[in-house]
Amino acid sequence: MLADWATFSTAGGAILYVLIAGIVLVKHGLQERAARFLAVYAMTSFLWALLLVFYWRLGSLPFLLEDILARASFYGVLLLSWLFLLLSRSFLRLERTGPGWWALGVVWMAAVAVLDSNLFALPDTLWAEGEWVVQRQDLTSVALILGWGGFMAGTTLLTVRAYRQAQQPLHRNRITYWPLALGFTVAGGALFFDGRSEALGSVFYLLGTLIAAYAVLTHRLPDVRQMARRSVSYLLITLLTVIIYAAGFLAMQYAFWTMPGYSPLLAGAVMALILAILFHPLLRLVQQLLNRLISGASYDPRRALREYSLNISNILDLERLATVAVGIISEAMDIRRGTLFLVHREGEDGNGYFHLQSVKGMGQEDPDPGILFASSPVVNCLRREHRPLTQYDIDLLPRFRQISPVERAWLDSLGMDVYVPIYAKGEWIGLLALGPKASGDRYFPDDLMLLSTLADQTAVALENARLFDDLKARNAENESLNKALATANRELARLDQAKSDFINVASHELRTPLTQARGYSEILSEMSEDGSLTPDTAQQMSVGLIKAAQRLEEIVDTMLMISKIDTQALGLTPSETTVAMIVNAAVSSWATALEERKQILTVEGVTELPPITADAKQLQEVLSHLVQNAIKYTPDGGQIRITGRLMGGGMLPQDQSVEIVVADTGIGIASEDLERIFEKFYRASDVLLHSTGKVKFKGAGPGLGLTIARGIVEAHGGRIWAESPGHDEETCPGSQFHIVLPVQPRYLEAEGSAAFIASVRASGDQV
Ligand code: ADP
Repeated sequence: MLADWATFSTAGGAILYVLIAGIVLVKHGLQERAARFLAVYAMTSFLWALLLVFYWRLGSLPFLLEDILARASFYGVLLLSWLFLLLSRSFLRLERTGPGWWALGVVWMAAVAVLDSNLFALPDTLWAEGEWVVQRQDLTSVALILGWGGFMAGTTLLTVRAYRQAQQPLHRNRITYWPLALGFTVAGGALFFDGRSEALGSVFYLLGTLIAAYAVLTHRLPDVRQMARRSVSYLLITLLTVIIYAAGFLAMQYAFWTMPGYSPLLAGAVMALILAILFHPLLRLVQQLLNRLISGASYDPRRALREYSLNISNILDLERLATVAVGIISEAMDIRRGTLFLVHREGEDGNGYFHLQSVKGMGQEDPDPGILFASSPVVNCLRREHRPLTQYDIDLLPRFRQISPVERAWLDSLGMDVYVPIYAKGEWIGLLALGPKASGDRYFPDDLMLLSTLADQTAVALENARLFDDLKARNAENESLNKALATANRELARLDQAKSDFINVASHELRTPLTQARGYSEILSEMSEDGSLTPDTAQQMSVGLIKAAQRLEEIVDTMLMISKIDTQALGLTPSETTVAMIVNAAVSSWATALEERKQILTVEGVTELPPITADAKQLQEVLSHLVQNAIKYTPDGGQIRITGRLMGGGMLPQDQSVEIVVADTGIGIASEDLERIFEKFYRASDVLLHSTGKVKFKGAGPGLGLTIARGIVEAHGGRIWAESPGHDEETCPGSQFHIVLPVQPRYLEAEGSAAFIASVRASGDQV
């Protein structure tokens, strides 16, 4: 039977265990995992303590019962160590890591029980050689102790791991309590197995459980670092006081020993007085020195506030504001990371959310923007309570358990310690997120108060900067609108010019042949009146009249063609033909002109091309016009080259196309005109240069030829474009007109060409 105090203390422990379980039930209602485990652990400890009391108290028990109780007390230690490991796992928030501790515990305990009950009828002595004997009973004890040791070692590893993983000082502080609880629990178990001081073991167990319960049940655990710092400074100051007192007293003894009337009592009193005066300044000095030594630097909140408000009030640029704000705070509090978020509210109250966009980060890449729902507990806390919120609270307080996984993941990804909301006119407009301090210290209540004040200071500046930013954005918008307006104006002016050009050109074009016709008819009429008309003159006059009529017809045809292209009514008559035929027919009509202008025209590579399906007459018009232009815009003696080649690698005719290039050594085309020349009435040269001479150098026509050419080529499902190094009448860089035509246009069989043109037109032509 053990001493009375052991039974009494263990019985007292049993009552405390029940109390702990009761407190957990009342305070947490078994909602949290760690609390649940704590309740189970406390209740098991209670049963175990009860068992011990029985075992120790009721000395004279039947052997069997005593044996059962003795064994049960050992099993209790194993069971408790396993439960303590599970409790540690959920307290350290490492539930999803490590091996299957649950299963391991169950299997181990079952194995010990099987071994102990000798289910497999093993002999009592398992192995014996000389002095060395292994008993079955020894094996059970070893399995028991090994299991206990394994669970305790597992808990130690988990604790070390959790401490390493924890970035935040508050989390680290919380974890710091665990080694203490673990230490007492391990010591308790060890003493129990030792067998000599089971009572002390049970007391240690109780202490371990009490510390664990305190850590699990208390959210705001006292700061261990701060407590350590305070204790060290008190220790130091006590030492200093003693040394100063002793030294002073001895010095006085030595100096005034021979003085009449000197008494050691007086010396003691004087020293006490000196120390009383010195105590406070000394204490502060030691504390400051220690702070410097442990956490680097300390800051003066008043100075930080003054510097902050001085620097921040006049900044209008959002990014600069964020950089300065985060910079000053980080420097004052020695923080490694920080970001200012702009908060925008979106949506209605019921399903609204807040969009958080970082302005400028420090010590890291700009974090991703995040979304917090209006109904989120974090938003509720930030909006209603107007005070900083710590990540530690978000992680551990039951009220934040409802946060959606997306929100939690985003907050975790920021890796911040504290969130300080910023308000303007009652609206939540910004969030200052700050990372851990370099010193590893937590944010103390004084820090949080200062941060709140700084956030208030930021509010006005932030509101101004936001407005300014808005204004800037609007200005930029206006500027781009103005630019678009100017472009549209220029385009309108150009169209207007094209219209006047048309009237000028049309009247000019029509007037010349009309005047000629009128002249010839007047001469005819006069000569036939006075009888001077000879058959020769009559012949001459009629040829002139016919030419004028032809020119008129040509002009009217051109106008008609344009209107057909415009109204998408250009009917094609496709048939099988060859490029060589088309080119030859187009070129032959210009033989005289080429001779006149002493120009050389060569044709290459067209005879090898496969036959194509196309409206030969229309394409001949196109080619003819390109040759005419080449003659017109090339000085006398220049060269014109027509080349053909097959394009597209496919064997099937529908995958192939032919390219025809008309190149000249003429005045060339400026790059900005390369597309415009295909527009109606557009002429790169001056309208006044207009000439009726069909092939005169630079004798511009009405500016319709290329428009018609494009209309016809596109109606064939082909493309036409111009290339030129630029316009220069001195150096004559030349130009090339490219035509690409499908060998067998699909549309010709399937749809009418008009419909095809309609689709081509719709896809981009605005003429
Ligand atoms: P035009 O009836 O005036 O010749 P086009 O539509 O055929 O009208 O040509 C439009 C403009 O394109 C011409 O006024 C001319 O400035 C330019 N142009 C056409 N072909 C050439 C070329 N081969 N070399 C240089 N400029 C050309």
